[in-house]
Amino acid sequence: RYNGTDLGATYTKEATTFKVWAPTAKSVKVNFYATGSDKEEGAKDLGSKELTLDEKTGVYSVKADGDLANTYYTYTVTAASIADSTKVTTKEIPDVYSVATGVNGKRSMVCDLSSTNPEGWDQDKHVLTDDIADASIWEIHVKDFSYSKSSGVSAKNRGKYLAFTELGTTLNNLGSIPTCVDYLKELGISYVQINPMYDFGSVDEAGSDAQFNWGYDPVNYNVPEGSYSSNPYDGNVRINEMKQMIQALHKAGIGVIMDVVYNHMYNTNTSFQGTVPDYYYRMNANGTWSNASGCGNDTASERAMYHNFMVQSVNYWATEYHIDGFRFDLMGCHDITTMNKLRDELDTIDKRILTYGEPWTGTWPRDPNGIANSSAALMDNASKLNPRVGMFNDKVRDAIRGSNDNYGAASGYIMGASGFDAAVKAGEMANTSTMWGGNWSKAPTQTVTYSCCHDNLTLWDKIMKVCGSSDYDGTNSTYLAMNKLASVIEFTSQGVNFTIAGEEFARTKYGEDNSYNKGDSKNLIDWNRVSKYSDLVSYYKGLREIRSVYSPFTDSSMTSVNSSYFCSTPSGVVAYTMQNKTANANKEWGMIAVITNATTNTQTVKLQAGTTLPSSWVTVANGNSAGLKNLGTVNGSTVSVPARSSLILVDASTFDRG
Ligand code: CA
Repeated sequence: RYNGTDLGATYTKEATTFKVWAPTAKSVKVNFYATGSDKEEGAKDLGSKELTLDEKTGVYSVKADGDLANTYYTYTVTAASIADSTKVTTKEIPDVYSVATGVNGKRSMVCDLSSTNPEGWDQDKHVLTDDIADASIWEIHVKDFSYSKSSGVSAKNRGKYLAFTELGTTLNNLGSIPTCVDYLKELGISYVQINPMYDFGSVDEAGSDAQFNWGYDPVNYNVPEGSYSSNPYDGNVRINEMKQMIQALHKAGIGVIMDVVYNHMYNTNTSFQGTVPDYYYRMNANGTWSNASGCGNDTASERAMYHNFMVQSVNYWATEYHIDGFRFDLMGCHDITTMNKLRDELDTIDKRILTYGEPWTGTWPRDPNGIANSSAALMDNASKLNPRVGMFNDKVRDAIRGSNDNYGAASGYIMGASGFDAAVKAGEMANTSTMWGGNWSKAPTQTVTYSCCHDNLTLWDKIMKVCGSSDYDGTNSTYLAMNKLASVIEFTSQGVNFTIAGEEFARTKYGEDNSYNKGDSKNLIDWNRVSKYSDLVSYYKGLREIRSVYSPFTDSSMTSVNSSYFCSTPSGVVAYTMQNKTANANKEWGMIAVITNATTNTQTVKLQAGTTLPSSWVTVANGNSAGLKNLGTVNGSTVSVPARSSLILVDASTFDRG
């Protein structure tokens, strides 16, 4: 084990030092090139240098004099398998710790990182909500965001990092309806979560612009993906353009969460395997690669140097790129110790940086190879994790709109199916409370409340699937009512608020439940829907406003959970009242009531609370609209709720504070 943070190429104008942790290697050589591949103009072999081993640390190193910035390099490593010392391989590979590469990440590049900073980068700061529970996240893919002409983005930047830097974009470039970052500013989100943007393998960076992939197949973890840049050949360009994207989002007041996939890689023919054979990947007893991820090639976070790599990698992104949060793919593949250590490390930068992930693995039953269930960052082990390591709450997701079973045909609460009321109640309390059952989470900061994400059907398509419709582009009032019901639960629940991009305009993938390689037709954002579904957009916007002015919804402590009271209701109706006992109580609405009626009949609900009820209420959300406006007054505690609709009520005597 080597705990130094200087592995890789350490650049100065005078010299560059190369360090490789390779304890089983017989020899390590660094090879220099003028370009990132042999096919480019100016390609030239610039010679090589032997590295020397420090036997105490297992680190090979060499110092090369002169200014090596923009020189491409690889290592030739001859090394024995960690499992079988008679198995020796020789591979020419990029640097495990590359910060820059040429096209397709085949060769690393010595980089003067300071030269990649856009103008004003020294003033760029993290954009973070005061508290993790205040976060409202919108999940997007770099290409989905702007590849459609409807985005109004210039042709050269469509689908690229730089699309995020274009301001004043409008629908079809017609000058009236804002799109892209301007749209997000109006929507009121606090973060975008961006699908993989590290260097991944499934898109040929030298190939056609028509290629599409989500990118959950990492190659170089500490390098931006080249296909989203204007020039994937020059190692500096992708770094500069990703920084420009982050800077533009920060200027818009939006934080950037990076989707990281440390749990598996594109293949095992990698720099990791070439440097220390059979060390970085979990292996089955019969010598095959472990596949708990369901994507093959599982990495081994429990091994010291991969643990160190992960911790240093998130640290690097948070400091060099000012990344504001990390979403861990299949976090259940990682060990608890690593996730807690990551959290501690990020706390030294800023405690508000978000960390959350998928608290499960890709295959079930869980692959027995690798780590024991009791050591894995699974939902069942939430209590062993820092409460600021969050988890996607698939319990509330499935309660709201039904599970992914039967290709998504399974029904849920919003479709009027019975048996989901208790799970909705538990989810509204972020599954933290023993009072409502279904508790797995230690605190609202540990729960990501959502109804859909990039995986599986979008919320709109799920409604179509359950209802047996293919009217993806339609505006059927029943389906829109179901969607609104889902949104009310999402926005009035404890926990971190999360939506997929365009959930608020009935985002559709036309029934495709796994669009990772399905191309633009299924994946891209059709910005015309902002106009077509403007009523739904306004509804989401209004709910986000309600959430943002009422601290109990975003309480990171258990205070507001414990001041909530579920009323006795008929099946299909869920109603709770909540007192405002937060520090802001005197400046905000007092008690509120949230009622959802998923049945096809008008229902009468008798409001209850653990204390005296207000004598009258102001409605701020009903089946039609939501926001900070007074939509009417309700006297007394008996409330009538129309079929398939919701009500959010505020203590009338405190309404003016909102
Ligand atoms: Ca790539």
